[in-house]
Amino acid sequence: MISVQHVSKTFRSGGTVTAALQDVSLEVAEGEIFGVIGQSGAGKSTLIRAVNLLERPDSGTVTVDGDELTALAPAELRRARRKIGMVFQHFNLLAGRTVRGNVELGLEIIGVDGEQRRRRALEILDLVGLDDKAGAYPAELSGGQKQRVGIARALAGNPKVLLSDEATSALDPETTRSILDLVKKINTDLGLTVLLITHEMDVVKRICDSAALIEGGRIVEQGRIVSLISTA
Ligand code: ADP
Ligand code: ADP
Repeated sequence: MISVQHVSKTFRSGGTVTAALQDVSLEVAEGEIFGVIGQSGAGKSTLIRAVNLLERPDSGTVTVDGDELTALAPAELRRARRKIGMVFQHFNLLAGRTVRGNVELGLEIIGVDGEQRRRRALEILDLVGLDDKAGAYPAELSGGQKQRVGIARALAGNPKVLLSDEATSALDPETTRSILDLVKKINTDLGLTVLLITHEMDVVKRICDSAALIEGGRIVEQGRIVSLISTA
């Protein structure tokens, strides 16, 4: 479902050159939860941003659900990106919009009409367990509730792939578990493929089917969780 092949990315700022990704390749099968684990600065964030081309690789290819994103013109890329939802560490909710308004945002951008947007938002808020908060503002929510809104927003457009950029890093352990269980439920119930990045092994152990370890911009280990753990 997601294929990253020989992707490299170098940042140049001031006099500093950082090879953030060096010949990174990975394959995420349809319907699995794939975790990329690594320490701070390892290249996780650059990698996940490269998957939807928020960060364009210097070389290599990224293919999602049969579309080679790295080869698409801007208009085609916009369309292909609708298959991808993304969840962020700091939620990135709009403070001036209600929960429902935040969830409807992506649908508004692609021109879904008002009544249909409202119905879809309420349906998806029900799925993430927040149907009673549709009219609340982000400031009135706990961290876990904010992330549920972030997940609902990512799912509103009915994507095939969910990208999670340290979605639980700002949450306490108990809330982390409930959000991870929600991601697992979405994966199972909707058949969504999930690619997540994390610096916590517990996250990988709790919900991932496969994982890759990234160090200094390189994948040093990759495989099914069962075999990774038994060879560790
Ligand atoms: P992680 O998410 O694993 O913490 P990142 O992908 O954010 O790692 O960063 C990998 C490396 O690339 C780090 O050394 C970081 O400082 C550098 N880097 C990331 N983004 C930029 C940028 N926009 N400009 C310059 N250097 C960057
Ligand atoms: P958690 O322990 O999960 O972080 P909180 O203690 O932050 O939860 O919130 C518990 C409940 O209080 C939640 O249902 C949340 O909606 C509500 N709440 C939190 N902050 C506010 C606020 N500033 N205004 C109104 N309600 C709030």
